[in-house]
Amino acid sequence: MIFDIQRYSIHDGPGIRTIVFLKGCPLRCPWCANPESQKMVPEIMYSEIKCVLCQRCVNACPVNAIKVINGKIHIDRELCNVCGLCWEACLNEALKVAGKEVTVKEVLSIVEKDRIFYERSGGGVTLSGGEPLMQAEFSAALLAACKKKGLNTAIETSGYQKWELFLPILENTDLVLLDIKMMNTDLHRKIIGVPNNLILDNARKIVELGKDIIVRIPIIPGYNDSIENLRNTAEFAANIGIKEVHLLPYHRLGESKYNQLGRIYNLKDVNVPSTNYIESLTQIFIKNNLKTQVGG
Ligand code: SF4
Ligand code: SF4
Repeated sequence: MIFDIQRYSIHDGPGIRTIVFLKGCPLRCPWCANPESQKMVPEIMYSEIKCVLCQRCVNACPVNAIKVINGKIHIDRELCNVCGLCWEACLNEALKVAGKEVTVKEVLSIVEKDRIFYERSGGGVTLSGGEPLMQAEFSAALLAACKKKGLNTAIETSGYQKWELFLPILENTDLVLLDIKMMNTDLHRKIIGVPNNLILDNARKIVELGKDIIVRIPIIPGYNDSIENLRNTAEFAANIGIKEVHLLPYHRLGESKYNQLGRIYNLKDVNVPSTNYIESLTQIFIKNNLKTQVGG
């Protein structure tokens, strides 16, 4: 199941790329910029600014899951069975579904359309999410199909998966973009919902396998931006043989999606880190002989 395919991306790997966003993630980072990626079921997203309150959706819903309360559309997500009738009825694109079952063949046919751009730019296809490792069989099959067509492949991952399921994915992956969010496993479990041992073990194994790997670290003020955490991350990366890291400063671009999903955004009080602070953090990594870049 995917929730988006983005063409002509210049992020998440070299050159011009097509990014395939898979739905479902075992982690629960409170700063997630793609909250619609987290659950591995289709979900309705409702955009209040596009809505003209015509109530076509209210009349279309067969289970009365949509009501107007205090002049606003309210969706009862317990009642909703994601039948799709409301977004078909909406003329303003105020409703949409995140999540669609696709086949490897269908994705490949989209990915292949931009072959000429990949060839000219050194680009290719990147599997992102959500967490591509959560749909390990599909990801392995899609990457194998891409390699068979001679495409450059990358995955953007938390690395949270059993090695025996991760390995078939890596066999057809040219570049691994591995997120490491925090080194303290208790904090990792408390904030993100799972411990980090598996992630760190897999990082070592990917390096031992000789795969190209870049470690990516989201910098989230008050969560993982302490000097101690970043020093520990830099030392860990350097010790296991990582050569390059990307620092990804916190941004709030995903905030409106929480509203659209009927969820609460818990980082409202977190400010975007200053350029000077990010610059000072890069020095920690440079001192550990890591090629360091801000942004991914
Ligand atoms: S998807 Fe179907 S059940 Fe859910 S709110 Fe829309 S019309 Fe109702
Ligand atoms: S059909 Fe669309 S525009 Fe009309 S009330 Fe529903 S969400 Fe709003």
